[in-house]
Amino acid sequence: MTGKPAPRPNADTKPFWDACNEGRLTYQHCTSCGHAQFYPRSLCVQCGAPALEWRDADPTGTVYTFTVVHRAPSPAFREGGPYVLALVDLSDGFRMMMNVINCPPDSVTIGMPVRITFEEREGQRVPQAEPRS
Ligand SMILES: [Zn+2]
Repeated sequence: MTGKPAPRPNADTKPFWDACNEGRLTYQHCTSCGHAQFYPRSLCVQCGAPALEWRDADPTGTVYTFTVVHRAPSPAFREGGPYVLALVDLSDGFRMMMNVINCPPDSVTIGMPVRITFEEREGQRVPQAEPRS
């Protein structure tokens, strides 16, 4: 148990969170223009079409940018000391914000190859990144 707050799925995001609980990272693919979209929404942000389908993502990517958080925003995030908050470019062409875990914070670099792993919070599995070689 991490004690960290769990996400609260809504109508647009529930398919994403359900897939996480099955160990799958998913994203929305626009069948009208081909845009890969995250976070989940009811319309494509690129062309406005509602023609979105869910696809399983390749669970690999690279660190686009990151920060090391030394002053956690709440007590639940203070355990474990400094942590890494990163923007990760997934191989399928969308970007997500997540923590980089299972490595020392000072080992994280821009462009570092990562893969998706899941951290459980109150019964909800949350995607995180960890180093891959
Ligand atoms: Zn589109």
